[in-house]
Amino acid sequence: MAEKIAGGERLSDADAVTLFETPDILAVGALADAVNRVKHGDRVTFAANQHLNPTNICILRKTCVFCSYARLPKEEGAYRYTLEQVFAEAALTDGITREFHIVGGLDMGAGIQYYSDIFRGLKERYPYVHIKALTAVEIAHLARIESMSVADVLRALREAGLDTMPGGGAEVFSPAVRETIADRKLAADEWLDVHRTAHALGIRSNCTMLYGHVETTADRVAHLSALRGLQDATGGFLAYIPLAYHPDHNELGKTLGREGTATSGFDDIRNLAVGRLYLDNIDHIKTHWVMVTPYLSQAALAFGVDDIEGTMVREKVYHEAGAQTAQHMALPDILRLIRGAGKIPVERDALYQVVREHGDDDGSPVVHAA
Ligand code: SF4
Repeated sequence: MAEKIAGGERLSDADAVTLFETPDILAVGALADAVNRVKHGDRVTFAANQHLNPTNICILRKTCVFCSYARLPKEEGAYRYTLEQVFAEAALTDGITREFHIVGGLDMGAGIQYYSDIFRGLKERYPYVHIKALTAVEIAHLARIESMSVADVLRALREAGLDTMPGGGAEVFSPAVRETIADRKLAADEWLDVHRTAHALGIRSNCTMLYGHVETTADRVAHLSALRGLQDATGGFLAYIPLAYHPDHNELGKTLGREGTATSGFDDIRNLAVGRLYLDNIDHIKTHWVMVTPYLSQAALAFGVDDIEGTMVREKVYHEAGAQTAQHMALPDILRLIRGAGKIPVERDALYQVVREHGDDDGSPVVHAA
């Protein structure tokens, strides 16, 4: 396989199975690192970003059994922010943030007007901040409750300020897995269709795979194959982010008897490295430090990874599922993490355009001009 990779030949599905199953994780990592170095050298990007989760109310609360975040409307802990609450939370990092990452539940009380008002309000206050918002599942939900097409929803949201879309909600495309972990959720083809539509409108997006629950190796490879196929057709994906399943405070974790046992470090590293090798048409492979710890994310920088997410400010979704990491990482800490791996930190925006090259500065924030 090394010759194939060195020659720039595309890996087959059978190759991906081998990469997922070989015990020689260091060999997989060396291959992924070599490919990554050709694409990105020693540069590792991150975003000065803030996660905003306007509502945790979700109509799929009972059927996405892997989810710890959602609530029914009258359930303890349910919330839907007012616009003022959203703007108050956004003000936590006024002048520093370059990107708002906005996702939430499928809330019947949060329609297109609600999100349009949020996006407009944020753009008025922070015109220099990029809005990466709403998964394909949320976009399809808005289309359904507003009786609009997906394309019209995307056009309306772009008009209000949407810049790009995150890659969540894909889980694993296998119908059998979806039946077990999320049987009412948007089907795989529909998830891909929303992204295809976004890309056709010029809206770039990310893509993901939730791993470490009941999926098989074949399921993983089929999922990656579908992502690679769509990327061949549209070129619209910016980054691939494998998402580690967290088993705490959700039905699936109880059913599997997995509470307190998240994914293994080997599997986290392997998913990132295989993503780099198999997804030859997606430029960026991102490790999500909140899910797998900053330490593992740092190690992953030697296994094919070129992006380490960002500052986040107040991450909620994975902390509901038992993530033990902090909810925020200060800029100097991100710089230390990246430099500790012998890499060069580069701050980026959501489109992976360079915001600031961090030579040997201490990470003191630059307040952006409006
Ligand atoms: S995973 Fe998303 S769609 Fe499913 S219950 Fe949680 S918030 Fe709702």
